[in-house]
Amino acid sequence: MASFPTTLEHGSASAATTRLSIDLGALAENWRTMRDLSGGARCGAAVKADAYGTGVDRAAPRLAREGCRDFFVADANEGARLRPLLPEARIFILNGVFEGSFAQTLAHDLVPIVNSPEQAAFWCGNADGRPYALHVDTGMNRLGLTPEQAVRHSEGGAPAPSLLMSHFACADEPGHPLNARQMQVFSGLRDCFPGVEMSLANSAGIHLGPDAHHDLTRPGIALYGGAPVTGSVTPMRPVVTAEAQVLVVRQAKAGQTVSYGAAHQLTRDSRIAVCGIGYADGFHRSASGAGVPLRSAVPQGAYGAVGGLRVPVIGKITMDLTMFDITDLPEGAIGAGDWIELLGPAISLQEAATAAGTIGYELLTSLGRRYARSYRD
Ligand SMILES: *Cc1c(COP(=O)(O)O)cnc(C)c1O
Repeated sequence: MASFPTTLEHGSASAATTRLSIDLGALAENWRTMRDLSGGARCGAAVKADAYGTGVDRAAPRLAREGCRDFFVADANEGARLRPLLPEARIFILNGVFEGSFAQTLAHDLVPIVNSPEQAAFWCGNADGRPYALHVDTGMNRLGLTPEQAVRHSEGGAPAPSLLMSHFACADEPGHPLNARQMQVFSGLRDCFPGVEMSLANSAGIHLGPDAHHDLTRPGIALYGGAPVTGSVTPMRPVVTAEAQVLVVRQAKAGQTVSYGAAHQLTRDSRIAVCGIGYADGFHRSASGAGVPLRSAVPQGAYGAVGGLRVPVIGKITMDLTMFDITDLPEGAIGAGDWIELLGPAISLQEAATAAGTIGYELLTSLGRRYARSYRD
């Protein structure tokens, strides 16, 4: 397994008290899994938001090497950053095109996903027949022409789009009735756009079966190790491992309290590992061991893992520091300078996200900039 040097955007990697390890081999394997699940459709990749926080400069070329040719990013700036890495790829811009992004879109040969009749008129009137994709809203009321507007567009004499797409609102709940309705509305547009490629499924949508696949799929979260279906055991391999370094181990007495607000009172004499990670690193305050009124699913908060054993967060997570109760670990199992896993092989993305009252997407995309990063393959 090849490893690459550990880097930090600013400063010295060895001085960082948080570290991320990103497994590009697992990313590639997850993409192959989604490709195989896509049936006859080609499989693309959503690499917006810095490839869900994993680092688009490394993730996207690795996916291209695996055979991925279609990439989805949010805006033209993300597309411009991607273009030199992927000179041959089709790069789609999910947020569409407007006057301020037009030059960037042309200069980097990006394909805007036109999201309204106004955007369609703007692109078709100014882009000299360059390719574009057309987004149809089939039930989310977010981006896209209504189905009626899409039909009108197809009859209006504008050049045909090279891709017709829509997006599921509830694909992570396979039994939700909106899924079938969206599939039906989308398929109903096929005859208005003869010969145009169609794309509907994100990671969860791919699991809805052949009627969702069409010509091109767009997985994101599953590539990065997320569970595509809510509450399911994910078949994906973990890609991101996040760890925090123990700065200090302290002894505290029963009856004393821990962290801000004195929200956690110790019921026994305790050993506490104080780690150099906090909510500024995306280890959300809502994952705190106490004092989180809005989080009902996991009242006790998040866990870390030390050599296969679990240690609970105690007290509130602070900006730069988090406390773990290591009383139950064997004496000497962990000390200052050692590392606690917060996310990775022992603690799944899904579990860590649920403990913070959020979803894996938000956890990955809010990892901060203080991590020392390394990649392996
Ligand atoms: C982000 C996004 C995707 C990828 O979704 P996942 O749920 O991460 O697989 C696909 N399509 C669109 C339109 C998106 O915005």
